[in-house]
Amino acid sequence: MNKDILNNKHKVACIGSGPSSMAFAKLLLEHKYDVTIYEKEEYIGGVLKWGIPSYRINPNILSQRIDYLKNLGCKFINNCNIGIDISLKDLIDKYDAIFIGVGVYKQRKLNAINEDLKGIYNLKDFLSDTNIYKKHINEYGEDVVIVGGGNSAIDAARNATRLPNTKNVTIIYRRSLNEMPANAHEISKAKEEGIKFMPLTNPIRFIGKDKIESIECSINVLGEKDESGRRKPIESSLPHIYLKADSVILSIGFETCFNLNNVLLNVDKKGCFVIDEHNETNIKNVYAGGDCVSGASSIANAIKAGENAAKHYLTKKGENI
Ligand SMILES: Cc1cc2nc3c(=O)[nH]c(=O)nc-3n(C[C@H](O)[C@H](O)[C@H](O)COP(=O)(O)OP(=O)(O)OC[C@H]3O[C@@H](n4cnc5c(N)ncnc54)[C@H](O)[C@@H]3O)c2cc1C
Repeated sequence: MNKDILNNKHKVACIGSGPSSMAFAKLLLEHKYDVTIYEKEEYIGGVLKWGIPSYRINPNILSQRIDYLKNLGCKFINNCNIGIDISLKDLIDKYDAIFIGVGVYKQRKLNAINEDLKGIYNLKDFLSDTNIYKKHINEYGEDVVIVGGGNSAIDAARNATRLPNTKNVTIIYRRSLNEMPANAHEISKAKEEGIKFMPLTNPIRFIGKDKIESIECSINVLGEKDESGRRKPIESSLPHIYLKADSVILSIGFETCFNLNNVLLNVDKKGCFVIDEHNETNIKNVYAGGDCVSGASSIANAIKAGENAAKHYLTKKGENI
């Protein structure tokens, strides 16, 4: 690191090291601000690191971005969970500005019977194991079932087909293929790789003695449109079906999860941070952006949020941007 580059004008912290925080940090570092990024995991990059498979985004892009920030003097503090290891209040007291880019990572519940049975994994653990750590890859068995209908469910399924012992990968989804949020391109890629789709299928009970062996599913029909604009799945009177499963990956969405430690930051009823048009929260110089504001969204949205916040803060400080 070139120490001369640091002017120590203002100390700024980012919480989380995903694309929103990195975009915020980049602009501030380029204006010679002193930036520290706190990250609860041992790795840097948020979903870019644990979630997005290398066949979709070249991992070199992330490592180049990290090197760029480090060369500008960015400090990364890993294994530091803000809200647990350091309180948000302490961070606010210590820094001139804060950017909260903590994403969404608390897995939603399916509310099926025996959801905690061994062999049932949440998406983040499964993708981290297969994308980063290459751990447990022999343990998923021959029949892997993914529950969900988004692009992440497809990612999980495509990762599962690449595991050494897997023979059959099936995606079960509670609505029809037409309602599936995953892109048509991703669905057709998955089909090309031999992944089976079972739409209108809803897991209601996971069965197994010590670990998952099969799944009892009800069969849905489609009703009227719901608030999402898609036709609502309704349980039919058709007999339940039973699917063999050696492991199950739940890809049913994430929620925000951040310990505010009594700091009075405004959040909406889903727990997302409430911000103004500059991504500033109700506390001056505390910004938030990315998925923790919008709910699960996209890399482009996260980058835009980080840049928007940085530009506002720099303008306040009288910088030319
Ligand atoms: C499997 C998957 C595939 C996806 N594929 C695509 C795609 O192909 N294209 C696309 O545009 N989008 C994709 N997305 C969405 C995209 O990755 C996210 O919208 C984007 O990463 C959000 O960025 P972020 O900075 O808000 O949060 P994140 O990337 O989630 O980063 C948040 C970071 O904050 C850290 N953190 C959380 N809490 C704390 C805390 N208390 N203290 C310290 N650190 C904390 C987390 O560990 C994480 O590293 C995908 C998402 C998933 C889950």
